[in-house]
Amino acid sequence: MSNHDSAVSNIYRGRFAPSPTGPLHFGSLVSALASYLDAKKQQGSWIIRIEDVDGTRCKPSFSEQITETLNSYQLFSDEPIRIQSQCIHIYEQLLSELKKQQIIFPCNCTRQSLAQYDGNHPLECQSSTSKPHSWRLRTSTAVYQCQDSIQGTLLFTDDLKNNCPILKRKDGFFSYQLAVVVDDHLQKINHLVRGADLIETTAQQLYLYDLFGWTPPKICHIPLITNHSGDKISKQNHAKAIENNHLPTLLRALHYLKIDLVSPSSITEALSLAIEAWDSSKLKGIKDLPLEEQDLHFI
Ligand SMILES: [Zn+2]
Repeated sequence: MSNHDSAVSNIYRGRFAPSPTGPLHFGSLVSALASYLDAKKQQGSWIIRIEDVDGTRCKPSFSEQITETLNSYQLFSDEPIRIQSQCIHIYEQLLSELKKQQIIFPCNCTRQSLAQYDGNHPLECQSSTSKPHSWRLRTSTAVYQCQDSIQGTLLFTDDLKNNCPILKRKDGFFSYQLAVVVDDHLQKINHLVRGADLIETTAQQLYLYDLFGWTPPKICHIPLITNHSGDKISKQNHAKAIENNHLPTLLRALHYLKIDLVSPSSITEALSLAIEAWDSSKLKGIKDLPLEEQDLHFI
């Protein structure tokens, strides 16, 4: 690596990568803000990426709507927005590399045949490539440890032993796992600030970094905003779209990041005060934050 390259990689590069399966909801605004504040506090770049590899669930109209909402909160991508569905050829190329390493195998097991394993795919199967098939990653005994500045040391010992995750689906769509690792690497993302629900994907991602010979980013996981039954508020459980350009909504989102501002006059002012106030250590060890009474209208 030249000196120039290492200087570049020292600059903080973070991202927010929503899936356009619905409009932006309160929980995603909190995530977007956390990644933005962490990047800006360290004079870094913050990049928006649209994770729309799942063509059965994602819609371009939601991508536009999400970007518009983020922009209405003065959250602008420092670089052109990357759209994963336009990068399929790259994922294909990297999947071929894994084929060459013989670290993936074709599978045409059905959901029913996997039911006995709780939906996991614990062993390599004998599938033919002449029928529609997915590509799965072989199991591994690799153990990973991740120093998460918010959640502490995360140790993954069994995560890769009992399941062969899908990297490319039977219907031809790539999995989140592969696309996210490839894009973070190609976009030189060196800091991930994301929701604690993604802790369970970390070992697989670190394993993919290893297989490709890439350096993983620093990763930390912020608490999830949960509803009264303790579930993450999400599009699946019908979280509502947030209003655009609405200072009170922004202030409530910041509140869950342990930032309470006293009557800022505008979104711009609130954001710049929030950058100063951002301190991820205030979230230390917190995995979820139940929605407070006054915020129940967000779901
Ligand atoms: Zn199989």
